[in-house]
Amino acid sequence: MKLQDRVALITGGGSGIGEATALLFAGEGAKLALCDLREENVSRVAKDIADKGGKSRYYLADVSSEEQVQGMVAKVVSDFGRLDILINNAGITRDALVRRMKEEQWNQVIDINLKGSFLCAKTVSFPMAEQKYGKINNTSSIGSLGNIGQANYAASKAGVIGLTKTLALELARFNINVNCVAPGATLTPMTAAIPKDIAERYKEKIPLKRFADPKEVAYVHLFLASVEASYITGQVIFVDGGVSVGF
Ligand code: NAD
Repeated sequence: MKLQDRVALITGGGSGIGEATALLFAGEGAKLALCDLREENVSRVAKDIADKGGKSRYYLADVSSEEQVQGMVAKVVSDFGRLDILINNAGITRDALVRRMKEEQWNQVIDINLKGSFLCAKTVSFPMAEQKYGKINNTSSIGSLGNIGQANYAASKAGVIGLTKTLALELARFNINVNCVAPGATLTPMTAAIPKDIAERYKEKIPLKRFADPKEVAYVHLFLASVEASYITGQVIFVDGGVSVGF
C-alpha cells in the first residue's frame, strides 16, 4: 500500500479525474476527504469508497471562497487528525473566443482554477508545516500552452504552473513537496460535451491517437503523492499522449 493511513484532500472529488484519484488512493490505504459543490456526485464517490472497505468523508465547499476553504480544512484536520496530501483538482471551463468572452466567464475560470488552487494550497500549508510533511499536487492542462476559445482557461492553467514553482520554493523548508500534473484530453464529463466530429479530429493530432482514461492521470497523482517521489518538487508532468512534444 503506497498511501497507508495518509489523509488526502481531493477537490473536485465527485467527478472525472478527482473521482478516479479518490478511488485509486483509497485502494492504496489512504483516508479520503472529498471536496465538491455537487452533493449527489461526491456522496456517490464516498459510498463507492465505503462499499470497497475504504474510509472517506465529503465536504461541500467552493474552492474559490477563502472562508469556505478555511472552514473545510479545519474540519478535515479535526475529523482525521492530520492532513498529508492535497490534490488541487477542481476546475471548470467557460469557453469563448476572446472578443466574445464576457468578464464573468474570465472571472469564474480564474477564480476557481487559479485562485482556488492558491487558497487550498495556502490553507493546507499550515497543518502540513506543523507536521513537517506534505504533498500538494496542482492541476494544469495541455491548454496552458494556448488553445483557441480558452483564453481564460489557458491563463488559469499557465498561472497554476507559476504558482506550483513558487509554492515549491517557499514550502520546501517545511518538507512539503509541490508538483503539478498537466493532463491532455481525458475522458470525463468536462470533455463529454465536445462534439463528436471535433473530438475525432483532435484525436488525430494526439501522438497516442486517443483520449486519456482518468485513471492514467490518477496514477501520476499517486506517484507524486507517494514517498517514492520525495525528492521531486516544483515539477510539471504532462500526461497528454505526447501532444506537448509538438509545441
Ligand atoms: P469534471 O468536470 O469531471 O470534474 C470537476 C469537478 O470539480 C466537478 O465535480 C465539479 O463539481 C467540481 N468543482 C467545480 N467547481 C468547483 C468549486 N468551485 N469548488 C469545488 N469543486 C468544484 O472535470 P475533470 O475533467 O475531471 O477535470 C479535473 C481537473 O483536470 C480540472 O482542473 C481540469 O481543468 C483538469 N483537466 C481536465 C482535462 C480533461 O480533458 N478532462 C484536461 C486537462 C486538465
